[in-house]
Amino acid sequence: MTSLEPAPDETSTHLETDVEVLVVGAGITGLYQLYRARVAGFSVQLLEAGGGVGGTWYWNRYPGARFDSESYTYAYLFSRELFEEWEWREHFAEQPEIERYLNHVVDRFDLRRHIRFGAKVTSAVYDETSGKWTVVIGDGTELRTQFFIAATGVLSVPYYPEVPGRQDFRGEAYHTGLWPAEPVDFAGKRVAVIGTGSSGVQVVPAIADEVASLTVYQRTANWCTPLNNAPITPEEQAQLRTDFEAMCETLNTSPSGFLHQAHDRATFDDSKEQRWEFFEKMWSSPGFSKLTSNYSDLLLDEAANAEWCEFVAEKIRTIVKDPETAEKLIPKHHRFGEKRPPFVTGYFEAFNNSNADLIDLEQTPILRVTEDGIETADGVREFDIVVWATGFDFGTGALNRMGIRGRDGVALEDHWADGPKTFLGVQTTGFPNFFFPGGPHAAAGNNPRYNGDQVDFITDALIYLRAHGCDTIEVSAAAEEKWTDMIDRWATRAPSFGEISYYFGSNIPGKPRKYLLNSAGRPKLFAEIDKVLESHYQAFRLSNSSNPARTGA
Ligand SMILES: Cc1cc2nc3c(=O)[nH]c(=O)nc-3n(C[C@H](O)[C@H](O)[C@H](O)COP(=O)(O)OP(=O)(O)OC[C@H]3O[C@@H](n4cnc5c(N)ncnc54)[C@H](O)[C@@H]3O)c2cc1C
Repeated sequence: MTSLEPAPDETSTHLETDVEVLVVGAGITGLYQLYRARVAGFSVQLLEAGGGVGGTWYWNRYPGARFDSESYTYAYLFSRELFEEWEWREHFAEQPEIERYLNHVVDRFDLRRHIRFGAKVTSAVYDETSGKWTVVIGDGTELRTQFFIAATGVLSVPYYPEVPGRQDFRGEAYHTGLWPAEPVDFAGKRVAVIGTGSSGVQVVPAIADEVASLTVYQRTANWCTPLNNAPITPEEQAQLRTDFEAMCETLNTSPSGFLHQAHDRATFDDSKEQRWEFFEKMWSSPGFSKLTSNYSDLLLDEAANAEWCEFVAEKIRTIVKDPETAEKLIPKHHRFGEKRPPFVTGYFEAFNNSNADLIDLEQTPILRVTEDGIETADGVREFDIVVWATGFDFGTGALNRMGIRGRDGVALEDHWADGPKTFLGVQTTGFPNFFFPGGPHAAAGNNPRYNGDQVDFITDALIYLRAHGCDTIEVSAAAEEKWTDMIDRWATRAPSFGEISYYFGSNIPGKPRKYLLNSAGRPKLFAEIDKVLESHYQAFRLSNSSNPARTGA
């Protein structure tokens, strides 16, 4: 089995071993945290396991990898100059452009000298006497930090299903979330793609025309709808510049962090004819607007949801020529929005190629991977390349694998054995001075927007501590319990994702079925942050490790 990791970025070898702020993860969240901590005047070191900048956009370099968020709404908004000097080529940029952008940000703001690549954190232990963390990386180097901030991502630990013989395959095998830097040559190869979630449905059309044969193994059909990508015209570029401030205002206050406007009508306010006309408009609208700008009751009313699903199913039947394949591609067991809906460009069309085949794993599960291919109840198919598009250990995967030990040596993975417990998705009790922006219990929607809210909250808290002569901050058990209870209560409330979604950890055998996002969303996060600020951080205990008498602010 071949599994190449992207080549390391040799340009950064810097390591500061005693700092005020240590950030882990060079994705969009960690880089923003590094930037904000630097501007606030803290000494900072960032550690990244990978060989370069980008996080998700460094590891997921498979063909077809691109945004489902509009490029300019995903990008940083903290600098108008940055916004103006970077012209996105497409409304939904492809991975190479995103990786180039994040590298540009790093160099533009002189952040690279604070980053050590190839530095995987293997242990982080809190010392109660000093209030500091001792952090160890893969090569055994030890670092000390006052504040330990893990921006390690919710989709950064690739997951392989437990299929017998996976290691026996002698051809090339790749996981979409661990894609090599060198291009993979698919031309004329017999290729299997396992998994039809957001990554699998991007890979399939990207390689469909060059392979000798394409066999797609589908565990669950998903409600895929068109991404409707397009190049950004010069007129649109100019408009984006003009609208910068208004756009920031919308994005910084929107519940989901998108520009899309909510629709003011419910499904059955309209006649059937009007509804289907509106659905046509939705079908042609960009990305997530099918979720955010659709009828207001789409996710609340079963009949409304069923009607949209019927419309999408009809579209699939129209696009896919083979009726049997079309039926397999139509989800039967979940409503639209109950799982994270993928957005596609040419996915359904790919099955019209005479060399493409869809295997429904509900009917014929994979029995084993062999040296030459994949065996199901229907027999063995031989392949040159197997692509595992089988997702991630979502939410807690990276944090629970870092060897984090808090007060009294308690392991984070034990504290979270029944699912994560947090306050605002940024801190957990018993782990002072430890933060995890962009981790579990963050809101849902356009990721950088709510992860950025968390980074702002954390940085402002550190500035507050410094101004008030404190160096230790720990959330109270009461605040953690209240926030976590709220998450759990909202988790099953419409319009929540269903328990069959990886947002509940349901793709990982044995993982507690706990909701890993925050259904109450960004408005609740904003409201709670306001309360914390108004009450001068009452939900937290603030103290000074060298002067225990100096407690609170
Ligand atoms: C293919 C794909 C497409 C996506 N598209 C969108 C989209 O269009 N819109 C959207 O909002 N979201 C999207 N997402 C979600 C995406 O993960 C977030 O948008 C965003 O990239 C998260 O950034 P982050 O910095 O929080 O985490 P990441 O980008 O995951 O970065 C975390 C970094 O931490 C590092 N790390 C983890 N553990 C350790 C350790 N122990 N030691 C050192 N380093 C460590 C990892 O190597 C990684 O580089 C997508 C995700 C995937 C996988």
